[in-house]
Amino acid sequence: PEEIQGLLSTHIAEYPDFPQPGVLFRDITPLLRDARALRRVIEHWASIIPEEIDVIVGTEARGFVLGAPLAYEIGAGFVPVRKAGKLPGTPRSRTYDLEYGTATVEIAEGALETGVRTLVVDDLLATGGTAAATVALARELGAEVLGASFLIELSALEGRTRLEGVPVSTVWSLE
Ligand code: IMP
Repeated sequence: PEEIQGLLSTHIAEYPDFPQPGVLFRDITPLLRDARALRRVIEHWASIIPEEIDVIVGTEARGFVLGAPLAYEIGAGFVPVRKAGKLPGTPRSRTYDLEYGTATVEIAEGALETGVRTLVVDDLLATGGTAAATVALARELGAEVLGASFLIELSALEGRTRLEGVPVSTVWSLE
């Protein structure tokens, strides 16, 4: 709806050439610090995601900040997917390609029960590499991934194509 689009256009800041030249970085912190805007956006987001989600799996770090209130709002639990080396025990890992180099994400062994109905959440879908690795980790533990949902989608990067078979929803889709 218009109200939500308006809130996002005024509460997401843009930084050209961050973290590297040629990248236009979207910064959600203005949204986070505005109590009313944050509540409206989380409430709206909750209304567009599939029903019957048991657990939201959120990716470090902004997938935590947004995924936890979203989970609370829909009555789901929350499981973190972390960057490499942060989880105790013997986590499952996935390494994926970035434009330069690779990244590794991890999930705790046993964090998701077999068949648990799961939604993957992050702030932003760009190339889809992070989300695809997160989906793969959730499935490796036996979860049923019902979808992936993002506050912002950079549609020109076609990240959805990396998430084959996973219904994708986004609050704000940008070219
Ligand atoms: P992808 O793996 O290329 O889809 O990149 C998505 C990941 O990078 C997510 O975890 C995002 O938080 C992060 N990311 C990429 N671009 C931006 C941005 O412009 N603003 C905030 N986060 C971003």
